Amino acid sequence: MRESLPVLGIGLIGTGFMGRAHALAFHSARSTFDLPVQLKLVALADADAARAEQCANSWGFERSHGQWEHLINDPAVHLVAITTPNHLHFPMAMATLEAGKTVYCEKPLAVTLQQADQMQRAAKKAGVVTRAGYNYQHNPMIVLARQMIDSGELGQIVSFQGEFSEDFMGDPMAAWSWRCEAAHAGGALADLGSHLLAMARYLLGDVESVCADSNTVHASRPASTDSQQQRPITIDDQTHALLRFANGARGTFSSSWLKHGYKNHLSFEISGTQGTLAFDQERLNELRLCRVGDRDGFQRLLAGPSLPGYAAFCPAPGHQLGYNELKTLEVHALIQAVCGNGNDGADFEEAWQVERLAAAIRLAAREQRWVALKEV
Ligand code: NAD
Repeated sequence: MRESLPVLGIGLIGTGFMGRAHALAFHSARSTFDLPVQLKLVALADADAARAEQCANSWGFERSHGQWEHLINDPAVHLVAITTPNHLHFPMAMATLEAGKTVYCEKPLAVTLQQADQMQRAAKKAGVVTRAGYNYQHNPMIVLARQMIDSGELGQIVSFQGEFSEDFMGDPMAAWSWRCEAAHAGGALADLGSHLLAMARYLLGDVESVCADSNTVHASRPASTDSQQQRPITIDDQTHALLRFANGARGTFSSSWLKHGYKNHLSFEISGTQGTLAFDQERLNELRLCRVGDRDGFQRLLAGPSLPGYAAFCPAPGHQLGYNELKTLEVHALIQAVCGNGNDGADFEEAWQVERLAAAIRLAAREQRWVALKEV
């Protein structure tokens, strides 16, 4: 880190799964890349002030806050990373934009389309860099997949089959959490499906219309681990949809958090007139490709240093990147955008488009009909 470079002060809100992933990514970005700024870990906030203090000490932040408003108003904080439950993204991001600071907000952008719309408008008005945490598209293999699609290597794209399944809610005794509350989150579609919708858009562009089906499999869950009390559940455990893309391709979409055996199965198969490309996040360093004339079926492409995002971490092929490296690549793209170098990553306008698509799927499932995106 060169001390003559300008300082970019980082504020991070939340110390859960994603709070830790963001903290690791800021550290890793600092040591992996020759950044045009000095990243300074200024402040960490959490509703649990004691945990904020403890994590600030071990994660290397200068100070901690029990109230997130203090972090946003801290003059040494220039960029605010939001890793709290979904319903808090709106007030926290709006306050950050009001303060004229960069926002790096976890996905999904908001819990209602109206909020997401307000956020993307406020971002435009503030004129600052915004990003949503759609980290999977920073995988060098996904960047390669998009290049292959855009260059016409697969011919005209005719079909997309996408699925994001996990099984962490598969047990009916898995306890209620904020993820089970419509007002706080929005079910498997919001939690996992939003990533798949962002991926579909990243690779193939706009979706024009959808039809869908959604259901709740476990209608109640224990109020907390080991509790005898049950809480009713109304959000979706699984959602299936058909998609029609603006480029003419047809697609399928499914998201489930109770499909046993799957831990991070964000996957797709994309077929064109000249070939098929397949990916599974559980094997994130691989793409499977079959081109017309490949008599023996699919070949496996393995990530290596010919891909810049991979080379940043490792000079040898096949040694494999992991989830946290994708987060580091996301942070790197964000810092570059803040410094005026490039525009990779999903900004609030793109994250709002993902919310429009999710809203269309919800409407289609509710009314059991095809919904055109222009309706929402
Ligand atoms: P979590 O429950 O593990 O952590 C949430 C954190 O927010 C906790 O530290 C909690 O104390 C804190 N918090 C709650 N209310 C707060 C308040 N009022 N002020 C300050 N802090 C508060 O949740 P998580 O799994 O880290 O998910 C957080 C966000 O990250 C969600 O939006 C989720 O969708 C997203 N997420 C993204 C990915 C990804 O791959 N991009 C993966 C998991 C989660």
